[in-house]
This record gives sequence, structure tokens and C-alpha cells, in this order.
Amino acid sequence: MVLSDEQRSLQGAARRYARERLLPAYRQRELAGKLDRALLREMGNLGLIGVDLPQALGGLGVDGVTAGLIIEELAYGDFNIGSVVVVATLLSAILARNASPELAQRWVPAIVRGDAIVALAITEPRGGSDAANMQLRARREGDAFVINGEKTSVTFSDTADAYLLFARTGRPDEGARGITALLVPADTAGIRSTRFDDVGSCALGRGSVFFDDVRVPASHCVGEAGKGFTQVMQGFDYSRALIALQCVGAAQASLDEAWAYAKEREAFGRPIGQFQGVSFPLAEGDSHIAAVRQLSYHALAMRDAGLPHTAEAAMVKWMGPKTAFDVIHQCLLTFGHYGWSKDLPHQQRLRDVMGLEIGDGTAGVMKLVIARERIGRAAVQY
Ligand SMILES: Cc1cc2nc3c(=O)[nH]c(=O)nc-3n(C[C@H](O)[C@H](O)[C@H](O)COP(=O)(O)OP(=O)(O)OC[C@H]3O[C@@H](n4cnc5c(N)ncnc54)[C@H](O)[C@@H]3O)c2cc1C
Repeated sequence: MVLSDEQRSLQGAARRYARERLLPAYRQRELAGKLDRALLREMGNLGLIGVDLPQALGGLGVDGVTAGLIIEELAYGDFNIGSVVVVATLLSAILARNASPELAQRWVPAIVRGDAIVALAITEPRGGSDAANMQLRARREGDAFVINGEKTSVTFSDTADAYLLFARTGRPDEGARGITALLVPADTAGIRSTRFDDVGSCALGRGSVFFDDVRVPASHCVGEAGKGFTQVMQGFDYSRALIALQCVGAAQASLDEAWAYAKEREAFGRPIGQFQGVSFPLAEGDSHIAAVRQLSYHALAMRDAGLPHTAEAAMVKWMGPKTAFDVIHQCLLTFGHYGWSKDLPHQQRLRDVMGLEIGDGTAGVMKLVIARERIGRAAVQY
């Protein structure tokens, strides 16, 4: 992929920031178990969040490929900071496209400045893969919606400033129809949240959010009432490619560290990199990551050109986290007993990327999406 001067310059700025500012404290942020809001504001000031948004909403107005380049670099330094920027990019794009101008102005520039976090609340206790079958209800009362029910597995459950919530406003048997997206400020009366004890990405926090007679003005509706599901699904093609690049960034960091170690660590009187048993698995990992990277940027370039890219985005969404997991695992082994220590970042990257083998849709669901693109909706049983 040939980059423009502007893309190279933004990529370089993100690369320097990730390696000098993010990488050294990746583990400390995990141990602290909370988001460093001052760091997010610093990133916002540097223009590293939501670059693809229009300038009127605080962005730089660049394309999706450039957003991907920045996310890949940031995730090299800290996978979870990459997640913050992916969610910010996805939700800002949904709000910019579908919310009223007043609502978009209230939230999108704040997200881009690093001042606000908006969480995505889709999954419910009865399941996430069959998302269209959601049950949480919002009923219309005059000029407001009143929300009752539980969302679960929400990233930023207890730190978000607002939730982009998907609620059933139509009949329970209407499936994807009859779902409305609502922007719900987190300080609205009647909201309670919990946090799970997760395997990874503890800096972000994930948990349930309970809504008990929560009242939001009808002006907080994002897009048309009853059309929420179709709107967010369009956004997912974008975030799937960005997630893959986030995983590529983390795997590349482990690869670079493992190659450097293989060059200097000696066994049997020579650098271990001279043994093909060490170098070939790393060469294979480098090749697989390069392939996922190229397909991810291809999907983003198709999106930027207004061309269909649903299958390509689903392909990299399942391959990205899985390939990164396998590659980081191999890198950890390259470090021998040192790799098993939490002082090195490989174990943390391994746990963090694994979360996105599930989050935002599992591999099984991605393969169903690909099959549906190839042989049609009627031919693929969900
Ligand atoms: C790190 C992380 C972050 C997350 N962040 C968010 C968030 O911010 N907001 C949010 O709303 N949700 C979030 N989620 C939830 C996530 O989107 C769901 O976990 C996911 O969609 C799967 O739903 P489920 O866990 O209920 O699994 P289920 O739907 O119960 O599926 C269980 C298993 O069955 C498989 N399966 C189900 N149906 C099929 C089928 N038809 N064919 C083949 N296999 C199938 C699945 O692949 C899975 O392996 C997050 C999850 C994780 C792990």
C-alpha cells in the first residue's frame, strides 16, 4: 500500500507517541484497572482520536485508511488505548451520520477531544450473537422514552459518560425491525452499573448496566425510531477492519521484540535466531500478520471508495484477533522463561487480543456473515 505524504506524517506522529508515551506504561494501566483520562485528553489535543470525522465536529476530515494507520500504531503501544480509539471512531461516526445536529455537536467534539467516552450497549444477558432478538424495552411517553432492562458485557460499563443504547420500541417478535438507538447520558437517574473480573483489558472495564425507568428526551433518538439496528450494522463493517488493525499493531510489537531477542540471545554458542526452529515460526507469523494487515487496509479503502466491503471486514475481524493471538503466543515462547513473566508484555497482549475473538462478534458469526455475502441470506441459517 502506497501512502500519501499526509498519511505518512500522521502515521509517524502516532508511531512516536505510541512507542515513547504509551508502551512504557501499558502494564501499569492494566494494574491500575482504570482509564487514564488525562492521557486521553492529551491524545485528543494531539489529534489522535477520531481523525476521520469532519472538521466541523473536531476531526481532521481524513479517510478511513488513515484512521486505521493511527489505530494500528496506537495499539502497538497499548492495545487498550487502541480499543478506546476504535470505539470512539465507531460511535462518533454513527452519531455524526444519524443524530440530530444538536446531539452530534454535544457529544462528538467531546469524544474527539478525549473528554467523553460513549459506550456501546447492545448485548443482553440472553445472548449477543443473535443481537436482533434483543428484549430491553423503551416505551414512548410524550416527549420522552422510558427505558427498562439490562445490557451486559458493555465495555466502559462503569466509566462511560453516556451509552449508545439499542432498545426494543416495537413488538417483541419484530426482530431487527422495531429497534431504536438512544443516546443515554450516564448520570441520568435510574442507571446502575457493575464491573466483571475479566481475563484482560482490565483498564477498560466491562460489565452490566441496569436501566430502571430511565427517562431520556425523544431528541436523544439516534436516527429514525425503529431503524436503530440497520444503522449500527453499517458502522460495524468499519469497526471490524479497525479492530483487525488494532490486533495487527499488538502482534507487530511482539514480533519486533521477539526478532530483536532472537538476534541477541545465545544458545549452543550462537544467536538463537540462527536456528530455523526459532526464526521460521517468527517468519511465518510476520507473513500472516502482513496478510491480515493488507486485507484490512483493502477493506478500509473499499469503504472510502463507497464500495461494498462487508465480506472483507468480516474476514479480517475473525482472522485479526486469532492470528495475533497465535503470533504473540509464538513470540512469548521465543523469550523462553522470561516470556512467562508478567514483566514482559506478551502475556498481557495475549489476554487482551483474545477478548476481541469474542467482542464485536465471534469468529462463528463472522463466517456466517461471509457465507451470507456469498450465497445469500436465505441460504444461511442463523
Ligand atoms: C472483550 C469484550 C468486549 C465486549 N464489548 C461489548 C460492548 O462494548 N458492547 C456490547 O454490547 N457487547 C460487548 N461485548 C459482547 C460481545 O459482543 C458478545 O459477547 C458477542 O457478540 C457474543 O455474544 P455472547 O457472548 O452472548 O455469546 P452467544 O451468542 O451466547 O454465543 C456463544 C457461542 O456460540 C457461538 N454461536 C452462537 N450462534 C452461533 C451460530 N449461529 N453459528 C455458529 N456459532 C454460533 C458463538 O460464536 C459463541 O462461541 C464484548 C465482549 C467481549 C468479550
